[in-house]
Amino acid sequence: MLSDLIHRNIRWSDARNAEDPGYFSRLAAQQTPEFFWIGCSDSRVPANVVAGLDPGEVFVHRNVANVVHSADMNLLSALEFAVEALKVREIIVCGHYGCGGVRAATEDMPHGLADHWLEPIRRLARAYAVDLARCKTAEERRDCLAELNVVEGVRRVSETPIIQKAWARRADIRVHGLIYGLKDGRLRNLDCSTGPGHFEGRAAE
Ligand SMILES: [Zn+2]
Repeated sequence: MLSDLIHRNIRWSDARNAEDPGYFSRLAAQQTPEFFWIGCSDSRVPANVVAGLDPGEVFVHRNVANVVHSADMNLLSALEFAVEALKVREIIVCGHYGCGGVRAATEDMPHGLADHWLEPIRRLARAYAVDLARCKTAEERRDCLAELNVVEGVRRVSETPIIQKAWARRADIRVHGLIYGLKDGRLRNLDCSTGPGHFEGRAAE
């Protein structure tokens, strides 16, 4: 299995090099991605592939169910690097329909450590219980919860000191919420974008 993977890599790098001989040396010199992507670890939602982007075009952080924990040092370190060093302009929180993590958060059974990780989604499910109850099927309810999780993620990213500090110096950084459909391969905009106008200190200026 591993040797198959190595051979695939050799075929890919050879093909890429033949197409564009300066490709790897250019990428090795520097990365200048415009996007920072916070997505789910699900193998069916690779950021570059579903967004049609090449290596070097998107800086990526993924975790189970694309949860934005306000004290997640892994995510915050990547976010800070993306904003301060890479100067990305567009931050995308991307969830997906049919998410196993969201499903686990709705189940009444233990999942070990994942239950701690998924607690924010359980909390959302409790907060929006009345709205979610209007969904006709359990699948629809889970997909609606996946959307809520993205909107919450956008809000939490926007409220981090990293983004608040960037907006305070008028950096034109936008945070967007998208959701990906496994069944049709389409990304949908959840229209919950935030930008410099969301700097909370602005009202006090
Ligand atoms: Zn998922």
